[in-house]
Amino acid sequence: MDPEEFRRAGYAVVDWITDYWATLGQRPVTTQDPPGTVVAALPDAPPPEGEPVAAVLADLDRLVLPHLTHWQHPSFFGYFPANTSGPSVLGDLVSAGLGVQGMLWSTSPAATELETVLLDWLADLLGLPERFRSTGTGGGVIQDSASSATLVATLAALHRASRGRWRSTGLDRRYRAYTSTEGHSSIEKAARIAGLGSDGVRTVEVNPRTRALDPAALRAAIRADLAAGEVPAIVVATIGTTSTTAVDPLPEIGAICAEYGVWLHVDAAYAGSAAICPELRWTHAGLEYADSYCFDPHKWLLTGFDCDAFWVADAGELVEALTVLPEYLRNTASETGAVIDYRDWQVPLGRRFRALKLWFVLRWYGAEGLRAHVRSGVALAGGFADRVRADDRFEVVAPHPFALVCFRLVAGDEASAELLARVNGTGRVLLTHTRVAGRYTLRLAVGSPQTRPEHVDEAWHLLARTATEVLADLPA
Ligand code: PLP
Repeated sequence: MDPEEFRRAGYAVVDWITDYWATLGQRPVTTQDPPGTVVAALPDAPPPEGEPVAAVLADLDRLVLPHLTHWQHPSFFGYFPANTSGPSVLGDLVSAGLGVQGMLWSTSPAATELETVLLDWLADLLGLPERFRSTGTGGGVIQDSASSATLVATLAALHRASRGRWRSTGLDRRYRAYTSTEGHSSIEKAARIAGLGSDGVRTVEVNPRTRALDPAALRAAIRADLAAGEVPAIVVATIGTTSTTAVDPLPEIGAICAEYGVWLHVDAAYAGSAAICPELRWTHAGLEYADSYCFDPHKWLLTGFDCDAFWVADAGELVEALTVLPEYLRNTASETGAVIDYRDWQVPLGRRFRALKLWFVLRWYGAEGLRAHVRSGVALAGGFADRVRADDRFEVVAPHPFALVCFRLVAGDEASAELLARVNGTGRVLLTHTRVAGRYTLRLAVGSPQTRPEHVDEAWHLLARTATEVLADLPA
């Protein structure tokens, strides 16, 4: 592809994306295809001769779009959002065009330094404690996902808990991780990868009303493990749990971690974005106890997947845990100790220039634009919850401080599951479900940049109408 061919094809691709976004609301949110539909439609082998980009775009329309779940759709209310936006896509495009690899400061100085500054900007925007800033002992880095952040935090915690022995001899004792019964599955995965085994994670009871971790139960678990000769290594507290967005009580959890010398990682994958709004920052009270913290701009801050912002209070400790230095990576800048080599802050060696999309987003929207996005989601979810509460066939099952509402039909699990299947079957909305205290619960998460009040209204009317049908069909 010569430069002029690239320019023409590039414009065509940008036009294609623009048209996709403009017509997204007219599509079904998701597909009802059986597995294998796309495989069956694709040729068995790549083309023997090259084809124009226009042919690929035509196949995107024909073979791909009809068979996608459209995460940017205004009526996508499933899971947590995975936002993207114009500036994010453009930043990613520049990153792809530059094609630099920022494993070391010396392999792309601007990639490293821009990332360091942006993570300090973000720390300011979220009101994070001073100890996470790069100007002190701490600092931030972009990971691909919150799962990677939890893994890296777990490894650093093991390094600390073993007084450095973990690096050379592996796990010499029984180390434990703690989270609530509502903690994300990535915590168990991190523990397994780190060699703790899935039973290395103690899942601590939650308050039945708030679904937040019970600090007394955490203390009891740590004491029991210590009495059995085991080593408490890391507590993962959550701000905004996946099922219901519960907020664990960081001040109490942090005090316990400080008392027992346990690493505290705070997973705010979804809800961290809310802290850019001062009125939602109460959720971060107690964060000064944390050794590490992460949130996903790719969930709710208009930055396309993948982009997790991860901070540590002591960058030296993290680097000590993870660094390996083969001869071929030695360079003068690293040896001065005056630069950051982000390869030592993550699992892979190589890394792409993810900071660019975040830079485009922060500059395009500014702090106020991002706050407006978060506030709009919170307000729409609040309005939806009011409608659910006003209909006595339904109940709201957990507090909803952010933009997720958990609710169900009072008639029970079977009716609630049937309601979800029927509304999703229309293709006009996508909601997902969870279980809260064992009971089937629907989740409606607002977050797509295109979602307006009318889309949430329409979702509510569809739910209310379908509930009438489901309840009428229930066996007497
Ligand atoms: N932690 C929490 C609380 C989450 O809700 C999620 C995903 O929804 C994750 C971690 C994992 O996020 P990621 O896909 O960035 O690994």
